[in-house]
Amino acid sequence: MQKLEEEAKLFMEARNRSTITAEKYQEGAKSTAIYPKKDALAYLALGLVSEAGEVAGKIKKKIRDGTDHDVASEVGDVLWYCAMLATEMNVSLGKIMDNNLEKLYGRKQRGKLQGSGDTR
Ligand SMILES: [Mg+2]
Repeated sequence: MQKLEEEAKLFMEARNRSTITAEKYQEGAKSTAIYPKKDALAYLALGLVSEAGEVAGKIKKKIRDGTDHDVASEVGDVLWYCAMLATEMNVSLGKIMDNNLEKLYGRKQRGKLQGSGDTR
């Protein structure tokens, strides 16, 4: 019980700062993960696609109804699956974020942000 209270306290402290590091998020996500380890990557990939569908669904409803739906919450769910995929691959979420920006900045410098292909 002590550990749970400590985790809750750390979560609330991070929340009150309004920013959280990728590493802290990844650790927090890990502490809430429940799934069979033997099927971890498949489970997480399916969850990621499912949550991405929920993002699309909320945006669809916003278009249809003209009312606000909590898209950000679903984006958070997508982030959780990304963090856990990184964890299962023993990669830091922050490193994935850095590598992604480095790739995109490189494309921007080369005038290759548009177009297609992983190796632009
Ligand atoms: Mg969701």
